[in-house]
Amino acid sequence: MADAVNDPYAMRDPRTQYPQPEFSRQPQPQPGLAAEMSPRPDHGETSYRGNGRLKGRKALVTGGDSGIGRAAAIAFAREGASVVINYLPSEQKDADEVVALLTGEGHKVVAVPGDLADEAFCKELVQRSVKELGGLDILANIAGRQQFSESIDDLDSASFEATFRTNVFALFWLTKAAVPHMPPGAAIVNTASIQAYQPSDILLDYAPTKAAIVAFTKALAKQLAEKGIRVNAVAPGPVWTPLQPSGGQPQEKVVEFGKNVPLGRPGQPVECAPLYVLLASQEASFITGETYGVTGGNMLP
Ligand code: NAD
Ligand code: MG
Repeated sequence: MADAVNDPYAMRDPRTQYPQPEFSRQPQPQPGLAAEMSPRPDHGETSYRGNGRLKGRKALVTGGDSGIGRAAAIAFAREGASVVINYLPSEQKDADEVVALLTGEGHKVVAVPGDLADEAFCKELVQRSVKELGGLDILANIAGRQQFSESIDDLDSASFEATFRTNVFALFWLTKAAVPHMPPGAAIVNTASIQAYQPSDILLDYAPTKAAIVAFTKALAKQLAEKGIRVNAVAPGPVWTPLQPSGGQPQEKVVEFGKNVPLGRPGQPVECAPLYVLLASQEASFITGETYGVTGGNMLP
Protein backbone atom coordinates (compact mmCIF):
# COMPACT_ATOMS: atom_id res chain seq x y z
CA MET A 1 0.00 0.00 0.00
CA ALA A 2 2.66 2.49 0.98
CA ASP A 3 4.25 1.95 -2.45
CA ALA A 4 1.05 2.48 -4.41
CA VAL A 5 1.41 6.21 -4.76
CA ASN A 6 4.92 7.56 -4.84
CA ASP A 7 4.49 10.77 -6.82
CA PRO A 8 2.28 13.04 -4.72
CA TYR A 9 2.18 15.63 -7.50
CA ALA A 10 1.00 13.41 -10.35
CA MET A 11 -2.57 14.35 -11.36
CA ARG A 12 -5.04 11.52 -10.86
CA ASP A 13 -8.61 10.74 -9.88
CA PRO A 14 -8.82 11.19 -6.08
CA ARG A 15 -11.60 8.59 -5.84
CA THR A 16 -9.34 5.77 -6.98
CA GLN A 17 -6.04 7.13 -5.68
CA TYR A 18 -6.28 4.97 -2.55
CA PRO A 19 -8.15 1.82 -1.48
CA GLN A 20 -11.93 1.93 -1.39
CA PRO A 21 -14.37 -0.17 0.64
CA GLU A 22 -15.12 -2.95 1.18
CA PHE A 23 -12.38 -3.74 3.67
CA SER A 24 -11.95 -6.88 5.75
CA ARG A 25 -13.01 -7.16 9.35
CA GLN A 26 -9.87 -6.67 11.42
CA PRO A 27 -10.52 -6.23 15.13
CA GLN A 28 -7.53 -5.25 17.27
CA PRO A 29 -7.18 -4.38 20.93
CA GLN A 30 -7.00 -0.66 21.73
CA PRO A 31 -4.77 1.19 20.92
CA GLY A 32 -4.43 -0.47 17.54
CA LEU A 33 -1.26 -0.89 15.52
CA ALA A 34 -0.81 0.36 11.96
CA ALA A 35 1.42 -2.70 11.46
CA GLU A 36 -1.63 -4.96 11.86
CA MET A 37 -3.90 -3.19 9.36
CA SER A 38 -4.94 -4.47 5.97
CA PRO A 39 -4.44 -2.64 3.69
CA ARG A 40 -1.56 -0.88 5.43
CA PRO A 41 -2.26 2.84 5.81
CA ASP A 42 -0.19 5.25 3.73
CA HIS A 43 1.59 7.67 6.06
CA GLY A 44 3.72 9.10 3.25
CA GLU A 45 6.62 6.74 3.91
CA THR A 46 7.48 6.50 0.22
CA SER A 47 5.68 9.56 -1.10
CA TYR A 48 5.95 12.65 1.10
CA ARG A 49 8.55 15.05 -0.25
CA GLY A 50 9.88 17.90 1.87
CA ASN A 51 10.72 21.35 0.60
CA GLY A 52 12.40 22.97 3.61
CA ARG A 53 9.15 24.51 4.84
CA LEU A 54 9.97 23.74 8.50
CA LYS A 55 13.73 24.01 8.36
CA GLY A 56 15.26 24.06 11.84
CA ARG A 57 11.91 23.84 13.66
CA LYS A 58 11.51 21.84 16.87
CA ALA A 59 8.29 19.86 16.97
CA LEU A 60 6.43 17.69 19.46
CA VAL A 61 3.93 15.37 17.79
CA THR A 62 1.59 13.35 20.01
CA GLY A 63 0.23 10.14 18.52
CA GLY A 64 3.30 10.17 16.28
CA ASP A 65 3.61 6.39 16.08
CA SER A 66 0.71 5.75 13.72
CA GLY A 67 -2.04 7.21 11.63
CA ILE A 68 -2.34 10.96 11.18
CA GLY A 69 0.35 11.62 13.80
CA ARG A 70 2.85 9.39 11.99
CA ALA A 71 2.07 11.15 8.70
CA ALA A 72 2.62 14.54 10.37
CA ALA A 73 5.88 13.36 11.97
CA ILE A 74 7.21 12.10 8.62
CA ALA A 75 6.19 15.30 6.85
CA PHE A 76 7.60 17.58 9.57
CA ALA A 77 10.93 15.73 9.54
CA ARG A 78 11.20 15.80 5.76
CA GLU A 79 10.38 19.52 5.82
CA GLY A 80 13.43 19.99 8.03
CA ALA A 81 12.11 19.82 11.61
CA SER A 82 13.54 17.79 14.49
CA VAL A 83 10.75 15.81 16.05
CA VAL A 84 9.74 14.20 19.33
CA ILE A 85 6.99 11.62 18.97
CA ASN A 86 4.81 10.48 21.85
CA TYR A 87 2.64 7.34 21.97
CA LEU A 88 1.56 4.68 24.43
CA PRO A 89 4.15 2.07 25.49
CA SER A 90 2.09 -0.72 23.89
CA GLU A 91 2.62 1.00 20.51
CA GLN A 92 6.41 0.62 20.56
CA LYS A 93 6.35 -1.54 17.42
CA ASP A 94 4.73 1.24 15.38
CA ALA A 95 6.99 3.88 16.93
CA ASP A 96 10.09 1.83 16.07
CA GLU A 97 9.09 1.91 12.39
CA VAL A 98 8.85 5.71 12.44
CA VAL A 99 12.18 6.11 14.23
CA ALA A 100 13.93 3.64 11.89
CA LEU A 101 12.54 5.36 8.78
CA LEU A 102 13.37 8.91 9.82
CA THR A 103 16.73 8.33 11.49
CA GLY A 104 17.65 6.26 8.42
CA GLU A 105 17.07 9.39 6.37
CA GLY A 106 19.29 11.42 8.69
CA HIS A 107 16.52 13.24 10.57
CA LYS A 108 16.46 13.78 14.31
CA VAL A 109 13.53 11.94 15.88
CA VAL A 110 13.20 11.11 19.55
CA ALA A 111 10.64 8.61 20.83
CA VAL A 112 9.06 9.36 24.21
CA PRO A 113 6.37 6.86 25.21
CA GLY A 114 3.88 7.67 27.97
CA ASP A 115 0.27 8.20 28.90
CA LEU A 116 -1.18 11.64 28.15
CA ALA A 117 -4.11 11.00 30.47
CA ASP A 118 -1.61 11.66 33.27
CA GLU A 119 -1.00 15.36 33.97
CA ALA A 120 2.48 14.81 35.39
CA PHE A 121 3.52 12.91 32.28
CA CYS A 122 2.25 15.71 30.00
CA LYS A 123 4.52 18.17 31.82
CA GLU A 124 7.44 15.75 31.66
CA LEU A 125 6.90 15.19 27.94
CA VAL A 126 7.14 18.90 27.21
CA GLN A 127 10.24 19.32 29.43
CA ARG A 128 11.88 16.33 27.78
CA SER A 129 11.05 17.67 24.29
CA VAL A 130 12.52 21.08 25.09
CA LYS A 131 15.66 19.39 26.39
CA GLU A 132 16.06 16.97 23.47
CA LEU A 133 15.32 19.53 20.77
CA GLY A 134 16.77 22.65 22.39
CA GLY A 135 13.40 24.42 22.41
CA LEU A 136 9.88 24.05 21.08
CA ASP A 137 8.37 25.72 18.00
CA ILE A 138 5.55 23.37 17.04
CA LEU A 139 3.09 21.48 19.23
CA ALA A 140 1.00 19.09 17.11
CA ASN A 141 -1.66 17.56 19.34
CA ILE A 142 -2.75 14.53 17.34
CA ALA A 143 -3.21 11.76 19.94
CA GLY A 144 -6.80 10.80 20.59
CA ARG A 145 -9.02 8.14 22.14
CA GLN A 146 -12.13 6.84 20.38
CA GLN A 147 -14.14 3.86 21.63
CA PHE A 148 -17.66 3.45 20.39
CA SER A 149 -20.56 2.40 22.61
CA GLU A 150 -24.00 1.66 21.25
CA SER A 151 -25.91 3.10 24.19
CA ILE A 152 -25.46 5.48 27.08
CA ASP A 153 -26.30 2.42 29.21
CA ASP A 154 -23.00 0.80 28.13
CA LEU A 155 -20.89 3.92 28.51
CA ASP A 156 -19.42 4.03 32.00
CA SER A 157 -17.88 6.99 33.81
CA ALA A 158 -14.37 5.57 33.58
CA SER A 159 -14.54 5.35 29.80
CA PHE A 160 -16.20 8.76 29.45
CA GLU A 161 -13.51 10.27 31.65
CA ALA A 162 -10.65 8.51 29.83
CA THR A 163 -11.83 10.00 26.54
CA PHE A 164 -12.03 13.50 27.99
CA ARG A 165 -8.68 13.18 29.77
CA THR A 166 -6.89 12.01 26.61
CA ASN A 167 -8.56 14.31 24.10
CA VAL A 168 -9.24 17.48 26.09
CA PHE A 169 -7.40 17.57 29.43
CA ALA A 170 -4.11 16.49 27.84
CA LEU A 171 -4.48 19.32 25.32
CA PHE A 172 -4.75 21.76 28.22
CA TRP A 173 -1.85 20.21 30.15
CA LEU A 174 0.49 20.02 27.15
CA THR A 175 -0.36 23.54 25.99
CA LYS A 176 0.09 25.00 29.48
CA ALA A 177 3.52 23.40 29.75
CA ALA A 178 4.56 24.26 26.18
CA VAL A 179 3.57 27.91 25.79
CA PRO A 180 6.29 29.35 28.09
CA HIS A 181 8.87 27.74 25.78
CA MET A 182 7.34 28.87 22.48
CA PRO A 183 8.78 31.91 20.67
CA PRO A 184 6.82 34.29 18.41
CA GLY A 185 6.25 32.42 15.13
CA ALA A 186 5.58 29.16 16.95
CA ALA A 187 2.42 27.22 16.13
CA ILE A 188 0.02 24.83 17.81
CA VAL A 189 -1.96 22.48 15.59
CA ASN A 190 -4.79 20.54 17.23
CA THR A 191 -6.85 17.67 15.88
CA ALA A 192 -10.61 17.98 15.90
CA SER A 193 -12.95 15.85 13.74
CA ILE A 194 -16.02 15.97 11.56
CA GLN A 195 -17.55 14.52 14.76
CA ALA A 196 -17.45 18.02 16.28
CA TYR A 197 -20.14 19.02 13.79
CA GLN A 198 -21.88 15.77 12.81
CA PRO A 199 -21.75 13.62 15.95
CA SER A 200 -22.47 9.89 15.61
CA ASP A 201 -24.92 8.34 18.04
CA ILE A 202 -22.30 5.78 19.10
CA LEU A 203 -19.63 8.39 19.94
CA LEU A 204 -21.38 10.17 22.81
CA ASP A 205 -18.11 10.82 24.64
CA TYR A 206 -15.73 11.28 21.69
CA ALA A 207 -17.82 13.70 19.61
CA PRO A 208 -18.13 16.31 22.38
CA THR A 209 -14.38 16.13 23.04
CA LYS A 210 -13.84 17.13 19.42
CA ALA A 211 -16.32 20.03 19.73
CA ALA A 212 -14.39 21.12 22.83
CA ILE A 213 -11.16 21.04 20.80
CA VAL A 214 -12.65 23.41 18.20
CA ALA A 215 -13.66 25.91 20.91
CA PHE A 216 -10.37 25.48 22.79
CA THR A 217 -8.51 26.22 19.55
CA LYS A 218 -10.49 29.42 18.97
CA ALA A 219 -10.15 30.72 22.54
CA LEU A 220 -6.45 29.87 22.71
CA ALA A 221 -5.79 31.52 19.33
CA LYS A 222 -7.26 34.76 20.67
CA GLN A 223 -5.25 34.48 23.87
CA LEU A 224 -1.90 33.64 22.25
CA ALA A 225 -2.10 36.18 19.42
CA GLU A 226 -0.37 38.71 21.64
CA LYS A 227 2.60 36.34 21.94
CA GLY A 228 2.75 35.80 18.17
CA ILE A 229 1.79 32.14 18.54
CA ARG A 230 -0.82 30.80 16.11
CA VAL A 231 -3.30 28.05 16.99
CA ASN A 232 -5.37 26.08 14.47
CA ALA A 233 -7.02 22.70 14.12
CA VAL A 234 -7.40 20.02 11.48
CA ALA A 235 -10.77 18.23 11.41
CA PRO A 236 -10.52 14.93 9.52
CA GLY A 237 -13.41 12.89 8.22
CA PRO A 238 -12.90 9.12 7.92
CA VAL A 239 -9.20 8.29 7.75
CA TRP A 240 -7.77 4.77 7.50
CA THR A 241 -5.92 4.43 10.82
CA PRO A 242 -5.77 1.88 13.69
CA LEU A 243 -8.08 4.10 15.75
CA GLN A 244 -11.07 2.73 13.85
CA PRO A 245 -10.67 -1.10 13.89
CA SER A 246 -9.45 -1.05 17.52
CA GLY A 247 -12.86 -0.13 18.91
CA GLY A 248 -13.39 3.26 17.28
CA GLN A 249 -16.12 1.74 15.11
CA PRO A 250 -18.01 -1.55 15.07
CA GLN A 251 -16.42 -3.99 12.58
CA GLU A 252 -19.42 -3.73 10.22
CA LYS A 253 -18.60 -0.02 9.85
CA VAL A 254 -14.89 -0.71 9.37
CA VAL A 255 -15.82 -2.87 6.38
CA GLU A 256 -17.53 0.04 4.65
CA PHE A 257 -15.38 2.80 6.13
CA GLY A 258 -15.47 5.95 3.98
CA LYS A 259 -18.19 4.65 1.68
CA ASN A 260 -20.62 7.44 2.57
CA VAL A 261 -18.45 10.47 1.85
CA PRO A 262 -18.73 11.99 -1.64
CA LEU A 263 -15.27 10.73 -2.68
CA GLY A 264 -16.37 7.23 -1.67
CA ARG A 265 -13.37 6.07 0.33
CA PRO A 266 -11.52 6.83 3.55
CA GLY A 267 -8.68 9.31 3.50
CA GLN A 268 -5.16 8.08 4.11
CA PRO A 269 -3.05 9.65 6.87
CA VAL A 270 -0.67 11.15 4.27
CA GLU A 271 -3.59 13.17 2.87
CA CYS A 272 -3.85 15.04 6.19
CA ALA A 273 -0.12 15.81 6.45
CA PRO A 274 0.02 18.85 4.13
CA LEU A 275 -2.47 20.74 6.31
CA TYR A 276 -0.43 20.13 9.46
CA VAL A 277 2.67 21.33 7.61
CA LEU A 278 0.94 24.43 6.27
CA LEU A 279 -0.53 25.38 9.66
CA ALA A 280 2.81 24.80 11.41
CA SER A 281 4.77 26.78 8.84
CA GLN A 282 5.33 30.48 8.31
CA GLU A 283 3.24 30.23 5.13
CA ALA A 284 0.21 30.30 7.45
CA SER A 285 1.33 33.57 9.08
CA PHE A 286 -2.15 35.15 8.87
CA ILE A 287 -4.10 32.01 9.80
CA THR A 288 -5.10 31.47 13.43
CA GLY A 289 -8.15 30.18 15.28
CA GLU A 290 -9.36 28.20 12.26
CA THR A 291 -10.43 24.59 11.84
CA TYR A 292 -9.82 22.98 8.45
CA GLY A 293 -11.63 19.90 7.17
CA VAL A 294 -10.05 16.92 5.37
CA THR A 295 -13.26 15.05 4.82
CA GLY A 296 -13.58 13.64 1.31
CA GLY A 297 -16.45 16.06 0.72
CA ASN A 298 -18.41 15.47 3.92
CA MET A 299 -18.02 19.15 4.66
CA LEU A 300 -17.60 21.11 7.85
CA PRO A 301 -20.39 23.67 8.37
P1 NAD B 1 -4.18 6.40 15.62
O1 NAD B 1 -4.69 5.33 16.48
O2 NAD B 1 -3.14 6.05 14.63
O3 NAD B 1 -3.61 7.59 16.48
C1 NAD B 1 -4.12 7.94 17.75
C2 NAD B 1 -2.94 7.96 18.68
O4 NAD B 1 -3.36 8.49 19.91
C3 NAD B 1 -2.37 6.59 18.97
O5 NAD B 1 -1.36 6.24 18.05
C4 NAD B 1 -1.83 6.78 20.37
O6 NAD B 1 -0.41 6.92 20.32
C5 NAD B 1 -2.42 8.06 20.85
N1 NAD B 1 -3.04 7.92 22.16
C6 NAD B 1 -4.27 7.47 22.46
N2 NAD B 1 -4.45 7.48 23.80
C7 NAD B 1 -3.30 7.96 24.33
C8 NAD B 1 -2.86 8.21 25.66
N3 NAD B 1 -3.66 8.01 26.72
N4 NAD B 1 -1.59 8.67 25.84
C9 NAD B 1 -0.78 8.88 24.78
N5 NAD B 1 -1.15 8.67 23.51
C10 NAD B 1 -2.39 8.22 23.31
O7 NAD B 1 -5.44 7.06 14.92
P2 NAD B 1 -5.63 8.43 14.12
O8 NAD B 1 -6.93 8.27 13.45
O9 NAD B 1 -4.45 8.79 13.35
O10 NAD B 1 -5.85 9.48 15.27
C11 NAD B 1 -5.18 10.71 15.33
C12 NAD B 1 -6.15 11.84 15.65
O11 NAD B 1 -7.04 11.99 14.56
C13 NAD B 1 -7.01 11.59 16.88
O12 NAD B 1 -7.08 12.79 17.62
C14 NAD B 1 -8.36 11.26 16.28
O13 NAD B 1 -9.40 11.61 17.15
C15 NAD B 1 -8.34 12.14 15.05
N6 NAD B 1 -9.30 11.79 14.02
C16 NAD B 1 -9.22 10.59 13.38
C17 NAD B 1 -10.16 10.29 12.40
C18 NAD B 1 -10.13 8.98 11.67
O14 NAD B 1 -11.08 8.67 10.95
N7 NAD B 1 -9.09 8.19 11.78
C19 NAD B 1 -11.16 11.20 12.08
C20 NAD B 1 -11.21 12.41 12.75
C21 NAD B 1 -10.27 12.70 13.72
MG1 MG C 1 -0.86 4.31 17.38
